[in-house]
Amino acid sequence: MDPKPFENERTFAAYRSEGTLDEFHRSFEEAVTEVESELGRSHALLIDGRRVDAEETYTVTSPADQTLEIGQFAAAGADDVDRAVAAARDAFDEWRATHWSERIEIFRRAAALMRNRKFELAATLTLENGKNRTEAMADIDEGIDFLRFYSRELERNDGYEYDTGEPTPGEHCTNALEPFGVFGVIGPFNFPFAIFCGMLSGALLTGNTAVAKPASATSLIAHKAVDILVEAGLPDGVVNLVTGSGGAVGRPLVEHEDVAGVVFTGSRTVGRNIRRTFFDLEKPGPVIAELGGKNPVIVTANADLEKAVSGVTNGAFGYSGQKCSATSRVYVDERVIEEFTDRLVAATEELVIDRPRTAEAFVSPLIDDDALDRYVDICDRARQVGTVRTGGAVVADDGRSGDTGSDGDRSGREKTGRERSGDLPNGRFVEPTVVTGVPHDHELAREEHFVPFVTIHPVSGLDEAIANANDSTYGLCAGLFSEDENEVETWFERIESGMCYVNREQSATTGALVQAQPFGGWKASGTTSKFAGGYWYLPQFLREQSRTVVG
Ligand code: GLU
Repeated sequence: MDPKPFENERTFAAYRSEGTLDEFHRSFEEAVTEVESELGRSHALLIDGRRVDAEETYTVTSPADQTLEIGQFAAAGADDVDRAVAAARDAFDEWRATHWSERIEIFRRAAALMRNRKFELAATLTLENGKNRTEAMADIDEGIDFLRFYSRELERNDGYEYDTGEPTPGEHCTNALEPFGVFGVIGPFNFPFAIFCGMLSGALLTGNTAVAKPASATSLIAHKAVDILVEAGLPDGVVNLVTGSGGAVGRPLVEHEDVAGVVFTGSRTVGRNIRRTFFDLEKPGPVIAELGGKNPVIVTANADLEKAVSGVTNGAFGYSGQKCSATSRVYVDERVIEEFTDRLVAATEELVIDRPRTAEAFVSPLIDDDALDRYVDICDRARQVGTVRTGGAVVADDGRSGDTGSDGDRSGREKTGRERSGDLPNGRFVEPTVVTGVPHDHELAREEHFVPFVTIHPVSGLDEAIANANDSTYGLCAGLFSEDENEVETWFERIESGMCYVNREQSATTGALVQAQPFGGWKASGTTSKFAGGYWYLPQFLREQSRTVVG
């Protein structure tokens, strides 16, 4: 069966192409005001269809404004994880036996509910994780895409059941893909709706049940996603939501004897620990993980520099570099490096730093104090080994420095024209930073930092550029800017990267779309060779069973 073609949700793009951006911004503004009036509530765990309080709670505040309380959330412990896993295990038999077409109906219903609440969900993201309006909407759109695309895949593959023939007279053979049982679903803060919904729907559509743990910083949007799935008809216990820290929830979840598989997006270190645990405990199911990146872009002497500057600016600084896919090192032919860098610096200085809820804002706040410290540290080190061409300063540090005046920050620098608001000091805002002169093999150009920081490196030509780009343990995203077809072909042949983009002005390395650009990494950037939003994603949540009946 081949259902009707898949089309991506593209809300912002649609408003832009229809010339009705005013309407987009009006709806967004209304939604932010409405969501804001509902913040500050308490949220319990969801276990076996019931709301369950935990002994402790934690408070989430907005990274854009520390005085804005998003809500209080139950801080679960190992006992809660036990209860949630037991509920998921008990729900498994009935859910796996539910025909795949019924499962699809629930997820399609959920996608429709999400679509009706798009602006509210995107506004929630803006307040909770600080994405600007377009990025927040793209996150919601992608979450809906995952639900619809995976439902379509299950339908297109008839639930992954094949008749494999009658090799010997009387022997009737089939091959079925069966779910494993309970999956732990551990989500990231940077795509807390899209990736969370994608991973969860992968596990559940295929007949597994789940215990989901979102990143603590983005607990509210996870609640909203799960509430919608429940409203759409997921039976009790099929999805359980357990909020809390990685140590208190994530670890016992991964180690639990009744958790068969884990799907995870986050840091390489945590990913490695999960894999180690699975290996040691001889778990039956997979660790499906999307991990980090140190994404290289190459700008050759044959590049259109306007495209390259735009692609790198957006790729490096969208959501302030807090994406696995962010552009973080750029290899530029020495014949054009000066012009490219000057233009990149100028474009970077144009980026507007403001509260993400405003229509003008581009630069987002950093998610937590660790990120802020990391930024300060790498900028200090960059000054020692190279040159900070622009950026390198904290614009607002949520008042930690004790200076909350609108012109103040802990670096003591003056407010610049691109900071539009006077109330940034309640958030964690830093300047997008462009650095030159750092050796290619320096840690600053090798490790993922997850902040708005990009290093520029001269190369003598494409060969050296590709060799340097590949000289990394990561292999997630890569970009090329060249108008020369031979260079493009050579690059495709040799680049070691899951995601490869040529001349992509809108962003050199970020912003993959479901189905058209399945997202995943090579080398240490992922644990599987199958990509999210692609045709081979769902079978990873299943195990084959060869069935033979004689007679
Ligand atoms: N899929 C996202 C993109 O294409 C990145 C996901 C991530 O950062 O984990 O930009």
